[in-house]
Parts: sequence; C-alpha cells; structure tokens
Amino acid sequence: MHPLASSLPGWALFRARALGEAPSAAALARALAVDLPRAELAVAPEATLWAALPGAVAQFRALVAADAGRSAAPAASERTAAPGDDAASLLDLARALARRLLAPCRLCHLRCPVDRTAGPAGRCGLGPGLRVYRDYVHLGEEQELVPTHAVFLAGCNWRCAYCSDWAHVARPEEDPETTAAALARSIDARRAEGARSLTFVGGLPDVNLPGVLDALAAARASVPVVWNSNLSATPEAHDLLEVAVDAWVADLKYGGEACSRAGSAAPDALARVHENLLRVAGQAPTPGYLVVRHLVLPGHTDCCARPALDWVAAHLPGARVNLMGQFEPIPEVRGTAWDRRPARAEVARARDHARALGLDLDGPGPLDPPGSSGPGPWAAVPGAARGAPGAAPAFESAIRIDGEGRVVLEDLPPDLADLAHALGALAEADRGPGGDGAAAPGDLARRRAAAAPWLEARAEGPPGAAGGCFDPAAGDQ
Ligand code: SF4
Repeated sequence: MHPLASSLPGWALFRARALGEAPSAAALARALAVDLPRAELAVAPEATLWAALPGAVAQFRALVAADAGRSAAPAASERTAAPGDDAASLLDLARALARRLLAPCRLCHLRCPVDRTAGPAGRCGLGPGLRVYRDYVHLGEEQELVPTHAVFLAGCNWRCAYCSDWAHVARPEEDPETTAAALARSIDARRAEGARSLTFVGGLPDVNLPGVLDALAAARASVPVVWNSNLSATPEAHDLLEVAVDAWVADLKYGGEACSRAGSAAPDALARVHENLLRVAGQAPTPGYLVVRHLVLPGHTDCCARPALDWVAAHLPGARVNLMGQFEPIPEVRGTAWDRRPARAEVARARDHARALGLDLDGPGPLDPPGSSGPGPWAAVPGAARGAPGAAPAFESAIRIDGEGRVVLEDLPPDLADLAHALGALAEADRGPGGDGAAAPGDLARRRAAAAPWLEARAEGPPGAAGGCFDPAAGDQ
C-alpha cells in the first residue's frame, strides 16, 4: 500500500513527524510552557504537580490536533512561547512527576513497595539511572518505522523465560549507566544522520521512564518516539508517556493469564495490557500510531495466538498487527517446553486466523519510498554533528548459528546483504523482528535506500565510524 493511502489511525501524523513536516510530541512538550516555575518542580507537593498536568495536556492536545490538520509546518514561534528561564515546560513537568513515581515505585502494574531513588530495587532491579546496552540504527523493524534509531534499555518487569536479551533483563546492574545528556547527543546525531524515528525498547522502556524523559528534554531533535513495550505501565505513568510518544509498538504476548504466568513473571498483567491498548487507541483527538505485535510461541497457537488476535479484532477492528514467527529458544530454556521453534504450520494457522479476522498484517508500506521529497524543516537538528565521536554512524548486524545448526544473518547493511544474496542466503539474511524469515519483494532495495546516509558516512570514514555503537560509558563530557 502507498503510505499516503493508509487510513490507519495516527499514521498520517506519525509520517509527517518522521519526515520532518510536523514537530514530534516531545518537541511540542519541550516548547509548551506550563503555569509553574521551574524551581517549584523539585520541592512542590506531588499533588500540586499532578494538578498542573490536565490543563497543560489540554493545550498540548490542541497543538497536536492543529498539526494533524496542517499541510505545511508552522514556524516554531507560531505555536507557543518557548519557556523562559523561570517557567517549566510540559516535558519538565512530566519529568518531575516521573521522578516522583519512583518512590514508592508506581511505574508499572506491579507497584513494588520500594524506593528506587535510593538504588536498585523492585522486580525490575533498577534504580533511578538509565542503562543503555545497545544503540544503533535499525532497519529490521516494521517497514513504516525504519530507519529507526533503536535504544535498548536494560531491565524489565516481566522477565519472560525465553527472552532473547536475558542477560540485560535479569542482570541490568551489569550494564553501565549513562547520562541523559549523553543519550540526548546520540538522539540528535542519529536524527541529523537521517533516522526517521527513535525507538525505545529493551528490556522495557516503561520501567526506565524518568531517564527517557530526561534525555528527550535534553535533546534538540524533533524525532517521533516509538514506544516498544509490553504496555503494562500504570495509568499515571501513561499520563506522562502520552506527552512524549508518537507511536506504540505493543507486544500482546498471551491469550490468557495462565500462559502469562507460565512464560513471564507478570501476574495479572493481561488486564492492564488490554486497558492500555484501548487507552492508546482511543487517545483523543489524535491517537498515536499503533502496531500490535504478537510473537507466535511454540505450542501456544490455540491458547495465545488465536485469543490474542480475537481480542484485537473485537476491540481494535482493522488494527495493524505484526504477527511474528521468529521465536528462537535461548540456552537458558534447554529441556523446557520453550525449547523449540514454532512449527511452520503453527505460524501459518495464526496468520490465516488474523487474515480471516480482517486484521492488517501488511501496514501502510515504506515510510519514505524512493523518490519521495526530502526531509521537512523539523528534521533539521541545529548544531548536531554528523559522525561526531561517540555517535558514530552504525548498523548492528548479527551472524549466528541457530538451534538447527543453520547460519543466520540478521539485519545486514545493504552491501553485506548483496553478498548474502549472491551466496543464495537472502531469505535468511532478511530475517528480523519485523519479518517472519521470508524476504519481501523489493525489501533489499528499500533497505539500500534507507541505508544511504550511513553507507555514505562509512565511505567518508568519519571519526569513530569503526566503533559502531554509541558508547554509554562515554558519559556526559
Ligand atoms: S518499575 Fe515495576 S517492577 Fe520496577 S520497581 Fe517499579 S513497580 Fe517494580
């Protein structure tokens, strides 16, 4: 489908933001002044801060709605006065409230009775700081979201038994802490290099909300935020998320509570996930763009895939769904029920069921098809250094041996994908979180076009280019 032809809720606005034709939610929240002095944020009673939020959010939503109907980007001065030295911005207010939610922790549905400001605590094992364990430009996500600057955050409240990033989820304290300023520099650099979106993933972004909001406040770029989450944040955390998030990639993992308890340490999470899905889809007047993901689990087609898809069809008819078939057992599940890939027939049955329900498995198509006009004015990042040390242009790829002894090449840059193609390995080379192992027609051309800025930078040999990923340990210098 041509991207402009899609009528999926929130898509047109997300696309305009990604292409720099409209400001992102965080850019608006950063510029919108609230009726509260900045100095009050750290000392005012929490109730005072919450009382200031609804009026500011109403103003924010009016600005978002105005942008949704615009055909051209307005000047920055047209929308709101930039906060002066004394006035807090809406994003500042959200940051201050997110910090208050750490003690006692009310970021996710578990509501651990712990004080995270004092250090690592609670089920997620996180303290107040932010730990980034990977940071790179990702081409393997849904094609309408890429190229996306993916930021992987350590720690998670669910700790799924089969998690592919188990070490970062189970032992977040082993990943180095980074600062908001360092992450903000990376955000600005990737946007300046041509990233169309900024994806927070992990691990889990929800449990890292305070640090993420701090980084978005410190960044200068207007880049739409994609929140890739299990969507089990509390209502109060969602109040804050919704002023900074432009698109939601929501994992709907299970069809019922029994499987949720068997696979994840997340009792009673499903009701919270359903509530949050309905909330983000019904966000008025302009919902964020929503992709519902479901990973087909081995042996869970009838108990999970079917009921999860049935729920989506009943409550979010016609929703964009990414039905994924690339579950891979990790060493930690050897000998358990999770120790196999789903059979092709299981994935096919789930796919047939989704199609019969009228769900949209294809999405709107490439975000930025070849030949489309250049980026709009909001894509510019004043002062951001392309290829600056510590923010090197980078892909991240993987070559690994799967459980059946096959060599799998993941998320390759186009030059290496060409080589894989020549070796007859394209079907495996194009596997990635956004796909099911089969190479879509034209996919290689799309990746080549999307990767152009990074390949060009690599050919120029910018400082630090060989280093690849952003280095969280570099700190705030
Ligand atoms: S984010 Fe969730 S798991 Fe982590 S401490 Fe808070 S309530 Fe507990």
